[in-house]
Amino acid sequence: MRRPYIAGNWKMNMTPSEGAKFAKELAEAYKAAGADCKIMIGCPYVDLPAVAEAVKGSDIIVAAQNMANHTSGAYTGEVSPLMLKDLGIKTVILGHSERRQYYGETDEIINSKVLLAIAEEMDVDLCVGETLEEREGGKLEEVLTRQLEVGLKGVSADDMARITIAYEPVWAIGTGKTATPEDADSAHAFIRSVVERLYSKDIAENLIIQYGGSVKASNVKALMAKENIDGALVGGASLSLEQFMPIVAFNK
Ligand code: PEP
Repeated sequence: MRRPYIAGNWKMNMTPSEGAKFAKELAEAYKAAGADCKIMIGCPYVDLPAVAEAVKGSDIIVAAQNMANHTSGAYTGEVSPLMLKDLGIKTVILGHSERRQYYGETDEIINSKVLLAIAEEMDVDLCVGETLEEREGGKLEEVLTRQLEVGLKGVSADDMARITIAYEPVWAIGTGKTATPEDADSAHAFIRSVVERLYSKDIAENLIIQYGGSVKASNVKALMAKENIDGALVGGASLSLEQFMPIVAFNK
């Protein structure tokens, strides 16, 4: 049985004080709603201490949106997993399409971060997904296969328990366009089949696969009703309680 996992990705939004205020209200609303999904918020680095403090004692997991692929050294501007762990942050989003697109993160770089996060006993939300050009060029399966094979290279079967996959078609992120539940479900089924080939049926069946790309209150139920969709990674709609709470409490 795969427990629904709803995550918010704030991207570069919310100052530390705004984030802490919002997170506190979210923790209270989540409790009041009796929502029973796993819930995470991915915050900018500088927000992490204030947000972690604000949700202390709640079920909300606070995650980083990225991390360095080194533990320390001459890497100006980077943030090490050891620094995150020192703040009590044990989850990290890796391979988001904005990191791939704007900061040149390749599958190999993302893989080195995945392996380091696992070595540091952190949980990873690994994002994969195709561009519109790749989809229209019939390359969906090829792209997902490469992103999974390279992104997960060296991850042991045991460590797959630390991995969540977020399928985020790039053309649906922040655009208001959502993949149809059927299209998303079929991409998720394909991801599960790749993981089964790389690992085992059991690991593939237990893998949580989130959908991301313009998820909102109006489409979350139809997406979550699909067999292979186990959660959501939510960008824009995670920035207000009015929009995020109906997603978090989709099954209420
Ligand atoms: C995201 O940031 O991962 C995302 C899916 O954004 P949005 O929900 O705004 O499309």
